[in-house]
Amino acid sequence: MEKIRTRYAPSPTGKMHVGNLRSALYEFLIAKHAGGDFMLRIEDTDQERYVEGAVDIIYRTLEKTGLIHDEGPDKDGGYGPYVQSERMKTGIYMKYAKELIEKGEAYYCFCDKERLSTLKTEVDDEGKSITIYDKHCLSLSKEEVEANIKAGKPFVIRQNIPNEGTTTFSDELYGDITVENAELDDMILIKSDGYPTYNFANVIDDHTMNITHVVRGNEYLSSSPKYVRLYEAFGWKVPVYIHLPLITDENHKKLSKRSGHASFEDLLEQGFITEAIVNYVALLGWSPEDNNEIFSLDELIKAFDYHRISKSPAVFDIVKLRWMNGEYLKKMDFDKFYEMAEPYLKEALTKPGLDIKHIAQLVKTRIEVFTDIKEMVDFFNELPSYDIEMYEHKKMKSTKESSLSVLKEMVQILNDWDDYSNDALYAMLTDYASKKELKNGTILWPLRTALSGKQMTPAGATEILEILGKDESVARIKKGIELLEKAQ
Ligand code: GLU
Repeated sequence: MEKIRTRYAPSPTGKMHVGNLRSALYEFLIAKHAGGDFMLRIEDTDQERYVEGAVDIIYRTLEKTGLIHDEGPDKDGGYGPYVQSERMKTGIYMKYAKELIEKGEAYYCFCDKERLSTLKTEVDDEGKSITIYDKHCLSLSKEEVEANIKAGKPFVIRQNIPNEGTTTFSDELYGDITVENAELDDMILIKSDGYPTYNFANVIDDHTMNITHVVRGNEYLSSSPKYVRLYEAFGWKVPVYIHLPLITDENHKKLSKRSGHASFEDLLEQGFITEAIVNYVALLGWSPEDNNEIFSLDELIKAFDYHRISKSPAVFDIVKLRWMNGEYLKKMDFDKFYEMAEPYLKEALTKPGLDIKHIAQLVKTRIEVFTDIKEMVDFFNELPSYDIEMYEHKKMKSTKESSLSVLKEMVQILNDWDDYSNDALYAMLTDYASKKELKNGTILWPLRTALSGKQMTPAGATEILEILGKDESVARIKKGIELLEKAQ
């Protein structure tokens, strides 16, 4: 059986979009699931879209996510160069373009902008306007072409697609697709600057680099018949095509920068962790046989059967990703968690003397993303202003009146009490409640409210007392009494 070889072929045009990350991940998983090779190829032939630093982002992201390539610009596997601009210098694209011209499958075109602007245009799947070329230069004789080239006239090389007949290609998910040749444009293979287009280079490179499975976004689906015609013209085997479904935002619109979480870097900035992002992205279009949702990269390699990729658009659900991220944080080893959470905690906890490590322990199981920390802990710095209606709690059997009397007694007891460890405080307060024949909540609810001024806290009343210490706790309880008395 032939060894599976996949490639991730990004264009260095900026950040790593979620869609790009998914392509890389699926290519990696398909190769690794079958014990194959995963290759990195940099597609930098569109010099206008090239962004400085984008190649570094690609390397960094692959390394961080664990999608380690077996071959690439930095790891020679015998199929190099792995950067298209370098491949171009070897003359490979021109050589094959000329071969197509010999076969009558391509031709030189010398039409200038002015002439092209008079031709019919069509809007492609991406919303870009493309000129439908009228084959004007196909009729040039060999001598005319040679004379033009000699005279230094700029030219492109176009694919020659007949106006009759049909072309069929096959996709693993979409099945066989047949299109009328008349609908296919004579696309440019070599541009006037000598660079190949993506449309040409992907075919030449995937073939010469022995790629067996091509995974990419379905924006390339409509061009695929043209690629298949090129493979057939050369007499090459067509790779397995897997065109992935669109990723949409919550409003079912194509995921874009506007949605705010379109790239891997955006998500890291928003406090998500790499493992959760990778896990979540794996599920954007693929589902496992069982209902499991939490997968490490190794587990994904084992489970990833590409036949289970779906055709329907995948909705990027940030709420679900948040949940998943929270699951990862809960399971994370504390030291690792602390290392990652520390900058967020230090930024949020501005009051000197607070036990940051202790607070980290409290938030670990309660946050979903690191950026949740600030809102959850800022009451430790300073008591926020709060609504005394919070003292009313049916289940805790707490009312404003009962709270006032509890706080009045508590301020005394806690002022006289010295052991401010959570365990001792808890034992003392629950003991007090049972002696008074009160529910624990009737004591602890008003206390927690007075200490935090918040409905939701990362800890119970006694843990908060422990962290705040006696002086601050007593001061906050006095403030609670004052607010409740004022309202009477
Ligand atoms: N360079 C193309 C892109 O970044 C790759 C498409 C493909 O995987 O063939 O969109």
